Amino acid sequence: MMYKVVIGLEVHCELKTKSKNFSSAPNEFTMTPNIHVSPVDLGLPGILPVVNEEACRKALKTAMALHCTNPDEIVFDRKNYFYPDLPKGYQITQVTKPMGIHGYLDILVHGERKRIFIHQLHLEEDTASLEHASTFSLIDYNRSGVPLIEIVTEPCIESAEEAVQFLEDLRDVFLFCEVSEAKSNYGQMRCDVNISLMKEGQKELGTKVEMKNINAFNAVKTAIEYEIQRQSEILDRGEKVIQETRRIDEDGKTYSMREKVDAIDYKYFIEPNIPKIPLSKEYLDAIRKEIPMLKLERFERYQEEYGLSEYDAGVLSADKKISDYFNTVIENSEDVSLALNFVTTSVLSTLNKLNITIDEFPVKATSIAELVNRVSLKKISFDHGKKILYKAIEEKKDPIDLINEQHLEQINDEEKLLTIINNVMNEHPEQVRQYVEDGNTFVYNFFVGQVMKTTNRQANPNISLQMIKEELERRKQNERK
Ligand code: ADP
Ligand code: MG
Repeated sequence: MMYKVVIGLEVHCELKTKSKNFSSAPNEFTMTPNIHVSPVDLGLPGILPVVNEEACRKALKTAMALHCTNPDEIVFDRKNYFYPDLPKGYQITQVTKPMGIHGYLDILVHGERKRIFIHQLHLEEDTASLEHASTFSLIDYNRSGVPLIEIVTEPCIESAEEAVQFLEDLRDVFLFCEVSEAKSNYGQMRCDVNISLMKEGQKELGTKVEMKNINAFNAVKTAIEYEIQRQSEILDRGEKVIQETRRIDEDGKTYSMREKVDAIDYKYFIEPNIPKIPLSKEYLDAIRKEIPMLKLERFERYQEEYGLSEYDAGVLSADKKISDYFNTVIENSEDVSLALNFVTTSVLSTLNKLNITIDEFPVKATSIAELVNRVSLKKISFDHGKKILYKAIEEKKDPIDLINEQHLEQINDEEKLLTIINNVMNEHPEQVRQYVEDGNTFVYNFFVGQVMKTTNRQANPNISLQMIKEELERRKQNERK
């Protein structure tokens, strides 16, 4: 039988801050264990947490980018449980007033907009990390206390594809807002997948299975596909899916870890060591102003306002820095299609070829715009503009300086061009004779080539061609007299 798939995700993402959420130890990824640790992160007796404002700002900012409603004050709660990676015996998290509730993120699935509803976003602290050997386990406290946001979606995701698209787009929100580097290979972004199936016409949600801590997005896809198959077979046999936590193994299958008997009682209470922090409208407004335009909006604007193809719009909106660079070029140039051409064919291809980031690209966006403007005003030819750009990249110089230094502006002056053309023709009497006596028009291109060569490609090729035709014709008429 076919079933309706219901998925809800709980996504954890470590925030990028200088120090940890409640201590001054550095928040920095390192392979050397236990070097970024303070007594607070070890849960030693008598410790007191100090709230990291930057972490709060970034959590609030992400919540706003996801269209959530923010609270009127920051409140932290204690979640009590025992596990070796949690030395205090409790985690500081948010239950009473999360940083954001009732939000959404629109994603594109096969070109169609789908709204994924966000139940809540809250700020908490990461646990230490455990490494299990055969007869013992090791604890690394570097991660203990790292600021972590958790984003819980409503159960509104309907396929593995939607889940992965949501995760990719959510990561872009983190990257565009610059709140996290969200590297899943460093465990900076990880997610729990909840999934259940519903029969056609069924009203209430089916029994869900939870799969914890999946880092890689393709593992999320594999796990979901496997679970859809496994749960379908159970339901087809007329049996019941049991509520449990499963893990995905390297073979792409999921295995039961523990059955969820009753909801665990964490004995939550408001963290007594952290005062409530009021949030003013001004404070929140200032954060809201820092939120940049997000990927989907850029993608749509590029197509609607600048008439870019879906492909070009996709390439240029995928990375915030590239998109910002392109925006600066476009805003400062007269000709959108020329600007697009220079950025996609010259800038992006150079990034690929040299394997560098846009930050390392040697030519400023405003200089590209200036170059584009000179081409569109016909001060330099298109080919010449490209040549100057490549020279600028190679020599790490400003293209406009190159033009000024080397007097590389296009030669449009007809008097100058005529002198050059006459010189070239006098140097090549055989080609002149071919036109004058045989009417051979192939020599046009030969002379254009010669003119370009002697002027280091600065001559305006169109004007030159026209003048070459006229000069050859004039010489032919003279011959007849
Ligand atoms: P729990 O109390 O077990 O933590 P929650 O109601 O808090 O469950 O939901 C946790 C996550 O599971 C959310 O992302 C939610 O969307 C998802 N979820 C809840 N019920 C279902 C269900 N029946 N099928 C799929 N996902 C679900
Ligand atoms: Mg829950």
